[in-house]
Amino acid sequence: MATAEIMQEKVAHPEIRQTQCFIGGKWLPAASGKTFETIHPATEEVIAQVAEGDKADIDLAVDAARAQFDGGEWSQMDARDRGRLMYKLADLLEENAEELAALETLDNGKPIRDSRAADIPLVIDCIRYYAGWADKIEGKTIPIRGNHFCYTRSEPIGVVGQIIPWNFPALMCAWKWGPALAAGCTIVMKPAEQTPLTCLRMARLAQKAGIPDGVINVVPGFGPTAGAALVEHPRVDKIAFTGEDKTAKIIQRAATDTMKRLTFELGGKSPNVIFADADLEAAVAGSHFGLYFNQGQCCTAGSRLYVQASAYDEVVDRLAERNQARQVGDPFDPATEHGPQVDQAQFDKILKYVEYGKEDGAKCISGGERHGDQGYFVQPTLFANVTDDMRIAREEIFGPVLSVLKFDDVDEIARRANDTNFGLAAAVWSRDISKAHLLASKIRAGTVWVNCYNVFDTAAPFGGFKQSGIGRELGEAGLAAYTENKTVTVSLD
Ligand code: NAD
Repeated sequence: MATAEIMQEKVAHPEIRQTQCFIGGKWLPAASGKTFETIHPATEEVIAQVAEGDKADIDLAVDAARAQFDGGEWSQMDARDRGRLMYKLADLLEENAEELAALETLDNGKPIRDSRAADIPLVIDCIRYYAGWADKIEGKTIPIRGNHFCYTRSEPIGVVGQIIPWNFPALMCAWKWGPALAAGCTIVMKPAEQTPLTCLRMARLAQKAGIPDGVINVVPGFGPTAGAALVEHPRVDKIAFTGEDKTAKIIQRAATDTMKRLTFELGGKSPNVIFADADLEAAVAGSHFGLYFNQGQCCTAGSRLYVQASAYDEVVDRLAERNQARQVGDPFDPATEHGPQVDQAQFDKILKYVEYGKEDGAKCISGGERHGDQGYFVQPTLFANVTDDMRIAREEIFGPVLSVLKFDDVDEIARRANDTNFGLAAAVWSRDISKAHLLASKIRAGTVWVNCYNVFDTAAPFGGFKQSGIGRELGEAGLAAYTENKTVTVSLD
């Protein structure tokens, strides 16, 4: 059979191999014996019962992680050998890429073409990139006053609790594991309750790669029980969290007493600005991708699209055409571009925002309804005549709802783009590169794309200004979040 034909065949559902807690290298049921269901969002069918960890399981996992950190094999391993094990893990992830992509599609509902082309390749790239860092984390020598030799050491921060969301389950896992392992930390991870399966599978591959038992522990379960126990645990040194800003504030308060180090990657309401002098074909294609990719479930979603007045109608028409052509359906069909939302709660929230848009006076140009009668599918939805005060222009929807607003000049757009508590990402489309750089410098966001959208690379730091986060992930900056700086001063007298 020709390769093209194989690519067009529907992909089979994968076998589910790991559903228990992974603690100290063992697969264990939850201490309580409880389980929870994980479902396939396209059919609403239960695909597995997963161990529901809580405080007792977190305690065991922290013990295992501490034992490796406080003098265990991992703590004594040469940095370069840590890197070699991470390269091995990257190779195993690559060998199992097809299975991981299918598992991600089953648990999250995202189209298989995206899991194959984006999520899993980025996972592999991230682990491989950080493997290379393991033996390159260096200190400095510092010329202090007096007859002293002063140097710094970058030491691993310790046992890290990692809490991740459901929108890119495997990729968020890699973004957290990569720098933590390179730095020499040990890990207790709590994946999102909607999507625990790829993380558990990755833990099995890490074990096969030879990463010592207890270095990576995974406790599936819910936020207020398993997640909260990890945040409050006195023997956890740091929490790395990706999720909603409201949850981050709960975590910040709960972590106060133990003074844990915290890094947060949170939500956004990212402004995407198209000037009339832009290549409109490219700007429309990029802006469409910037919002509808992953069914709009991206923290960087360009959900406030500002278009300069003279190009406004043309951009709206072209976006609507793209929505009409978009293939919505079974995520296991390689032709599908748009799958279901992750669960009933997200589905309900998005349709509520569609109603808010209509109530507040925006014009629904396309979509606005459920797609089909099974699964959590929402049609790609486009609102025109949106104004800055409308709820669909101010609040994070986390779904396939694009709001298009009008603007006149650079000063006006900089002010309006920054009129939000978020500051995760932004984009500018223009052929006038000076104008694009000027606006990029004025926008208060952790990432600004010029004439592109959602270009991620493991080497480039990512994170939020304002209430979109604290700290940075990826790149060299991402390592700083997993190291403590120690100053050693030696008398030379
Ligand atoms: P969420 O905050 O509800 O859940 C995220 C994780 O936190 C889950 O694992 C959940 O179980 C856990 N959790 C919930 N309550 C907790 C508590 N009290 N203590 C400890 N852990 C708790 O977010 P979500 O709905 O899963 O994800 C969507 C959000 O994530 C969006 O706001 C999105 O913008 C954001 N996000 C941000 C980034 C980024 O890198 N900036 C990436 C992906 C998603």
